[in-house]
Amino acid sequence: MTEFRSIVAATGEPQGEPLAISTTADVAAACAAAAAAFDTYRATDRETRAAFLERIADEIMAIGEPLIEAYIAESGLPRGRGEGERGRTCGQLRLFADVVRKGQWQQLRIDPALPDRAPLPRPDLRLRMIPVGPVAVFGASNFPLAFSTAGGDTASALAAGCPVVVKGHPAHPVTGALIAAAITKAVKDAGLPEGVFQHLVGPSNELGAALVQHPAIMAVGFTGSRGGGLALARLAQAREVPIPVYAEMSSINPVLLLPEALKARGEVLGAAFVGSLTMGAGQFCTNPGLILAVEGEGLDAFVTAATTGVSEAKPQTMLTTGIAAAYAKGVAALQALPGVETLAKGEEGSVTTGGAILFQTSAAQFLADKAAGDEVFGASSIVVRCKDEAELLTVLEGLEGQLTATLHMDDADEGAAARVLPVLERKVGRILVNGWPTGVEVCHAMVHGGPFPSTSDPRTTSVGSMAIDRYLRPVSYQNFAQGLLPAELRDDAFGDGAPRLIDGTLTLN
Ligand code: NAP
Repeated sequence: MTEFRSIVAATGEPQGEPLAISTTADVAAACAAAAAAFDTYRATDRETRAAFLERIADEIMAIGEPLIEAYIAESGLPRGRGEGERGRTCGQLRLFADVVRKGQWQQLRIDPALPDRAPLPRPDLRLRMIPVGPVAVFGASNFPLAFSTAGGDTASALAAGCPVVVKGHPAHPVTGALIAAAITKAVKDAGLPEGVFQHLVGPSNELGAALVQHPAIMAVGFTGSRGGGLALARLAQAREVPIPVYAEMSSINPVLLLPEALKARGEVLGAAFVGSLTMGAGQFCTNPGLILAVEGEGLDAFVTAATTGVSEAKPQTMLTTGIAAAYAKGVAALQALPGVETLAKGEEGSVTTGGAILFQTSAAQFLADKAAGDEVFGASSIVVRCKDEAELLTVLEGLEGQLTATLHMDDADEGAAARVLPVLERKVGRILVNGWPTGVEVCHAMVHGGPFPSTSDPRTTSVGSMAIDRYLRPVSYQNFAQGLLPAELRDDAFGDGAPRLIDGTLTLN
């Protein structure tokens, strides 16, 4: 296959002209260009790099309506979501511009020489973070803007000083091409080498595999399936020079309904839960796929309200027919599990759509069959009824790593919350109180990550300013004359606005 087509999500039909598929020669050329651009790009000063990121945001906004139209057609997601995601994408680029300007990401450290120290003198030691090298980014299907071509992985890698080679997601090639053109224009207008950003397209595992295996690539950012993330991680580990793969994969995001909150507002919580479950056809990595609570009237009220909400839910267009099929298969697998009861089913989905569904089971059954906790990507969730708090804790202990956990609680639930928190901290990356996990703020204190299999590296986040750390590594300079030191580590750079740890004391400016 040398060509492929953009598919309209709502119909499953192709649109527009056939699109060329990138070849392995294109992969080699893109990686070589990225490697050639690396030293020039990483040498850019903070202001140049920040202005470049802002320029990308401006260029994306300048595309205007054609971008939103392509987004709606290729994803099946509504206009409001598309416009919101575009705002988030540009906001993310501007946030990283601000991060780059402030300079904290460089983590500058200076331990001045102690020539008179006994028994041995200490040499002058200075440290900074440098970018790791060209980064391969795999665009995600479920965020065609905010987690794709110019999404969080690309923004954080470019902010770090790494050239980026994107493997665009085949579910939104027109959207991806428009964004890629905007970035390419920003690269040119900023006077940067072409290799700072490259875009490869095509529906084939070979393309992504060749990219990850190319010796010029030094790290990978990925959002998608567990199978895909693990396949890429294996390829990256098997290279002559292994590299890290930062993969965000699967999570069912447990929601704990604590007893007093359930007693006070079980029905309200049930209705609100359905809103979070069905948003965007449930195609969020933070979708609430597991509800945990202790038996009682409050839980009954929650289940009644949630059952009503899910029964009334209309099927929604899914991102691709492949994802709709995977959803139908995952739902059928849960339905077939012994001891798993279907509480409510929205109107049936089709080849292109998915209908919401709610299951229920006992904690004992959930613990007995690991498959009941498998992620089903879409608007599917399971209520697990626990006999008591001890059983609830046992269920929590048995869970795989997760992106989020949510507590619905009142003041009188504080004791119970304090007892589950140590377990949750071990299991998840973000713990929320009295909210819903869908909706991920892009800010400095956000963690969108967590223990395996939610991600491949629990020390990192793919959303928020800390995402830049994935693409940096420390270098220490010992006994360097001032003239040979990188500019930001010289004595005359103090006062440039970047914080420094001088002899162990944080010094601002
Ligand atoms: P995917 O199948 O994991 O694909 C994501 C990207 O990785 C695509 O560009 C794909 O390329 C590439 N890829 C996947 N496996 C590969 C392999 N073995 N070798 C090389 N490249 C590989 O994810 P998807 O297409 O977005 O959706 C499929 C399923 O992923 C969903 O049903 C859902 O379960 C899950 N998903 C999870 C999240 C999340 O946030 N956790 C988000 C989206 C999807 P090609 O397709 O071109 O080969």
